[in-house]
Amino acid sequence: MTASTNHIIHSVARLRREFPLQARIEATDPATRAAYAMVLQAWLHNGAAPKPHVIPLHSLNKLVELDALVESESGLGCYPFSAVKTGITVAYGEHQASAMCAIDALAIPFLANTAATIIATCSVCDLPVRVQTDAVGQITQAVPAGVHVAYRKLAQEHVVCCNDLCPGIVFVCPACIAGGAEDGMSVADAAEVGRQFFGFQREGV
Ligand SMILES: [Zn+2]
Ligand SMILES: [Zn+2]
Repeated sequence: MTASTNHIIHSVARLRREFPLQARIEATDPATRAAYAMVLQAWLHNGAAPKPHVIPLHSLNKLVELDALVESESGLGCYPFSAVKTGITVAYGEHQASAMCAIDALAIPFLANTAATIIATCSVCDLPVRVQTDAVGQITQAVPAGVHVAYRKLAQEHVVCCNDLCPGIVFVCPACIAGGAEDGMSVADAAEVGRQFFGFQREGV
């Protein structure tokens, strides 16, 4: 097994442990799963946050409690999509959406089946970062070349993913990696982690 494969397996396992999204969705009732699928489809097709009233209140409350959906003034966030700006933007098709984190951003082209451009900055030095992918989520170009994704340690108290876990999954430029400021995985590996973590959303929830 290559170091890269090992890193991917380890990161997917860690992400599922720290944020068991798929397990939570699979354990919930059919009506709530249907509501979740509706919100996800709205995001994929419109590239914008649906309003909370598009799903029954009972399901809404349950999905927010599970941290599968995030309520905000600008609508419903649904991992990997954020209803509020995060500094990580994904342009796909005619849409431009914010992603919850770097791994989430890299999963969006795969989920939307569309080539995408991710615009962000190095979270250490603010250098602009641009990553392009094809319609299956493979990286076609990264600027600067060698940009990495860091997956930082969670604080002791894990509250809601978008408030603690996701802000620690960030792009880091090669100079900051070389300088030892962060440890990270390649964007290609991070994209594979995203595809594995969010794969269940494509199979129909
Ligand atoms: Zn940097
Ligand atoms: Zn995330």
